[in-house]
Amino acid sequence: MIDDMKRETTKLLFALIILLPCFVSQATAQEAKIKWFGHAAFSVTTPNGKVLLIDPWLNNPSNPEAKNGKDPLGALTRVDYILLTHGHRDHVGDAVAIARKTGAALVSNPELAGNLVKLSDFPVKQAETNAIMGIGGEIQIADGEVTVAMTPAIHSSSVFNPKAGANEPERAYGGNPAGFVIIVKNGPTIYHSGDTAYFKDMETIGENYSVDAALLNIGGHFGMEPKMAAKAAQAVRARLAVPQHFGTFPGIAQNAGGFAAELKKLKINFYEMKPGETITYRGKQLIKGK
Ligand SMILES: [Zn+2]
Repeated sequence: MIDDMKRETTKLLFALIILLPCFVSQATAQEAKIKWFGHAAFSVTTPNGKVLLIDPWLNNPSNPEAKNGKDPLGALTRVDYILLTHGHRDHVGDAVAIARKTGAALVSNPELAGNLVKLSDFPVKQAETNAIMGIGGEIQIADGEVTVAMTPAIHSSSVFNPKAGANEPERAYGGNPAGFVIIVKNGPTIYHSGDTAYFKDMETIGENYSVDAALLNIGGHFGMEPKMAAKAAQAVRARLAVPQHFGTFPGIAQNAGGFAAELKKLKINFYEMKPGETITYRGKQLIKGK
């Protein structure tokens, strides 16, 4: 009898040892990750391992990977798509160098794409795919694992022209500024606001998409002040509001305290990522980083 029990226990242990790694790897495969590099720069890694970079100014002063002379591009091993909300330098950032290094395809409006190719030598083949889109459109990328919707933004958009002569304007047309809703299959739906001001039609985003994480500009001066950013979180019905575009340079809010206080009044979940931090979702559930 005791021998039988021992045998059964041994069998069970063997089964666990053999099967456990399968469960663990399956769980890992269903995880999506969001990393903040400081300012408006985020990466999204899908459960299948595809990497999207949004507004990749990785050399911003908040990014720990860019401090003490470090090259933040050195750590980038894979980027499949670069999403640009608009053409301002603190959003285009290191997009050209990253595109050259990784072969990533550009997701932006056609005017911004065209001028980045012409003025900043963005690799032309990566800027002329069917990932070039307009506000109101939705595209499927990453073999159908990700849907990207381009949403309106009230802001401006121009592209810095490093080739401009002394008597030429140093800013070229950047098309309309935008935001993105990024719907990850078996993962979260993420809204990145770009630099938009608050606008009432953000409610349409909340009606049409089920936003798990809203990455909202809160720095004011050039975009939403903290109070309006909290209103934006409410309008898009964010399950979690994450602040961005603050503390990077003088003139914008230096911390997220005001935003957190406004969200508390509205009873909206808040999470402040630290530059360099990654949060993890399993399906639509935030499992790490909170
Ligand atoms: Zn801007």
